[in-house]
Amino acid sequence: MSTDLEIVKNTNLKAKPEKDQLPFGRTFTDHMFVMDYETGKGWYEPRIIPYEPITLDPAAMIFHYGQTVFEGLKAYRANDGILLFRPDKNLERLNLSSERLSIPPIDEERVMGYLKELIHLEQDWVPSTPGTSLYVRPYIIATEPNLSVAPSNTYKLMIILSPVGSYFSGGLTPVKISVEDKFTRAVKGGTGMAKTAGNYSSAYQAQAKAYKDGNADVLWLDGVEKRYIEEVGSMNIFFKINGEVVTPELNGSILHGITRMSVIELLKKWGIPVTERKVSIDELHQLSEKGQLEEAFGTGTAAVISPVGELNWAGEKMIINNHEIGELSQKLYDTITGIQTGKLEDSQNWTVTIK
Ligand SMILES: *Cc1c(COP(=O)(O)O)cnc(C)c1O
Repeated sequence: MSTDLEIVKNTNLKAKPEKDQLPFGRTFTDHMFVMDYETGKGWYEPRIIPYEPITLDPAAMIFHYGQTVFEGLKAYRANDGILLFRPDKNLERLNLSSERLSIPPIDEERVMGYLKELIHLEQDWVPSTPGTSLYVRPYIIATEPNLSVAPSNTYKLMIILSPVGSYFSGGLTPVKISVEDKFTRAVKGGTGMAKTAGNYSSAYQAQAKAYKDGNADVLWLDGVEKRYIEEVGSMNIFFKINGEVVTPELNGSILHGITRMSVIELLKKWGIPVTERKVSIDELHQLSEKGQLEEAFGTGTAAVISPVGELNWAGEKMIINNHEIGELSQKLYDTITGIQTGKLEDSQNWTVTIK
């Protein structure tokens, strides 16, 4: 147990949701983690307290210039405890995002200890139905009341937990994705590689356009030439072309996905060629015409692997694998979810057990 951690137990526990009633991110557990920061003092007063609204000054800097970062990971119920999937990578990335947003870094090991304590306390909230999990949302907000356009001198790190249902209620289903040719998500030198609020709200207009035509999400192109593939809303993207797997290289505007990293590591272990490089939409279109675009799938914590059955780009429809789940997509999904839930051997030591 982390000795400096204060725990205030909630005496008014909520009823757990029905297991088939777990809409994403709308139900929260009984407790939350909070820690404050002040320039000169550092991070202080780590505490687990009852989940409750917080009070902020209307001038708090988060409201005005969006100085904030977040993370997303999941806790899964396994036979001998609760498993987290590569949580060290999430805290490492939180610090990477913070650096970009001029937010002071956290001590990753210390926060890992608090995170485990919180999940241990809330373990009854980790659902057990296949496909379900407890979503973990760490985030930092700037709290100083000050309208200056400058980094805040005070922050709050919070961690909240939300039980979530299966992303694919009827099993893996290939989705339709719209290739966005007008709006831009990120450019090199911008904030695309940081998990920060503004990257997401600025995508809603493109999302709405995509949904209207029956697409599940947007595939972003590079902001300069609108030619090279970047990623999907909250997923990285992979293509299988003539037996080789290809994914856009990390170029400064793409999020460094932990599922992406895990897929690359697994493919290498399996001896399947995988290349990180620039992929243009024209190249994909030509391959699709020739029948050489064998599979496409998104990767991210929410869906793990999301097969793509159709890409819609400037009036062109590229149908992939006849709208069916590719063999490799299925194998990656089964392997990663198997490791996450303790059903398959974790030879890479990716999971952390909470007992
Ligand atoms: C979170 C996120 C991803 C996926 O990252 P994982 O670590 O695999 O969950 C990809 N793209 C964006 C824009 C994201 O926010």
